[in-house]
Amino acid sequence: MSRRRFWPRMKNFLLQLGEQDGIGATATMIVKDKKRIVIEHGIGFSKNGEIKINNRPAGDYLVGTRIDLIILTHRHYDHIGAMARFIALHPEAEVVMSYEVHQLGIIVLEDSYKIQHGERRKAEMAGLPLPEEIVSLEDIDIFKKLPNEGGTIIKGNAWLDSHPKWIGWKLGFHHSGHDTGSLMVFIKTPSGDRIVYTSDVASHDQKIVKGVMMPDQEFIGDFFTGDGKTIMITEATNGNRPMVEIPERVEARMIAVTKTVIQRGGIALYPSFAGNRCANNVWSLCEAGILTVLDGLACDFVRIEIPGTLVDQWVKEGKLIIVKGPDRKLSRELREKIVRGDFGPCAIVTSSATMEKGHAPWYGSKLLDNPLNALIFTGHMFEDSIGEQIRTDALVERGRTIKLEIFVGQGRDSRLEKVPVNVRCDVYHFDRTSHDKQGGLVERIRLVRPDHLIVHHCKKDGYEGLMNAVIASPHIKTPRISRATHLTPIEL
Ligand SMILES: [Zn+2]
Repeated sequence: MSRRRFWPRMKNFLLQLGEQDGIGATATMIVKDKKRIVIEHGIGFSKNGEIKINNRPAGDYLVGTRIDLIILTHRHYDHIGAMARFIALHPEAEVVMSYEVHQLGIIVLEDSYKIQHGERRKAEMAGLPLPEEIVSLEDIDIFKKLPNEGGTIIKGNAWLDSHPKWIGWKLGFHHSGHDTGSLMVFIKTPSGDRIVYTSDVASHDQKIVKGVMMPDQEFIGDFFTGDGKTIMITEATNGNRPMVEIPERVEARMIAVTKTVIQRGGIALYPSFAGNRCANNVWSLCEAGILTVLDGLACDFVRIEIPGTLVDQWVKEGKLIIVKGPDRKLSRELREKIVRGDFGPCAIVTSSATMEKGHAPWYGSKLLDNPLNALIFTGHMFEDSIGEQIRTDALVERGRTIKLEIFVGQGRDSRLEKVPVNVRCDVYHFDRTSHDKQGGLVERIRLVRPDHLIVHHCKKDGYEGLMNAVIASPHIKTPRISRATHLTPIEL
């Protein structure tokens, strides 16, 4: 789609290029005081029958349009997915991200290249049209070299206010409490207006990161003083969900259930998001003294998400087994031993959270038919996912059959096959969300006191839940409220 088709006739505006489904493929463009800022360039997934489709933001990477600043707040696919290509196509732009996001981002991009490559090969062999390339090795190379080639890689919380191209601007970056190295963004423009972009945000603590409501006064300084209006852009993933149970209680119940499974000689399988949730679960389980197995992509992340010394200590004490390693044959043998019970009862943490890709379906095919075992979900349950189907089936009756897609055969002969599995184990869901619930989101809005509140990264119910809570709050002077949906410009 050419830029002409959607570029609004406004001087100052915000335009959400992605988020076709509300959540997924976030790409927020802000044009203000003659600067063009793009925050995130993610990808989303949707299903068309059996075929999975990648959604990327509209605008064909805004080729031919000058971009002044690109910000990547964290490494989740819906934020980073199309970012390497976007950065590569905009050498004129300043690029800012945290040190941890740069490190984790490289792993995510390399994994996404591998998956994409596999998908393209599959399509080629089946004579189907090739899926679009989202990231190339050249893109990844440019991303890798950012620290040496003009990118701004932030360590800790920082203000960048002495940049020659940004005279009269203040740009602040502070941890957002959502994920390792994730950032919220504070922008003061030459006209005196303030922009607060929360990104994905959490005020409650997780094992791997401390929650952040707002930065302290020392960081904020005089940001909120002076004339000009305050524009706040917040996510609302959980905008309609109040916190009914504190995270520590959720964790305690999860550990208690897992210990019961271990005591009866079973294995607890945790299908988890590779980024963030695997590490949080591993930390909780190892701390509780439960023998924990980690497999899949999260094995590459774990030493960035959890202090390496702690990981090494768990491994040394025999509390943690990290399966994925450079020797594939060895890893495969280890996997077989674990599901055979050679290591005894344990918890297995692996991706994917939806049981559609990665190692979770394979482990599931070996474990779910045994009533001694348990399947424990800890993330958002996506409608239409295999995981959600297993969970809802289990609410009705035990022993329903599900088809899991796993790799069978080895080496060149390996192929994906759907195997039927009779689900006879217990199935649980503990919501260990890394996004603020409604109360946290509302409290942050109370503290920021925006004149204009822009809500994005949510479904309709999340937006309405948050909007109604803000309007109902006696402590908040109701601001102008807009919802940033796909390609709907909002004047700033
Ligand atoms: Zn996120």
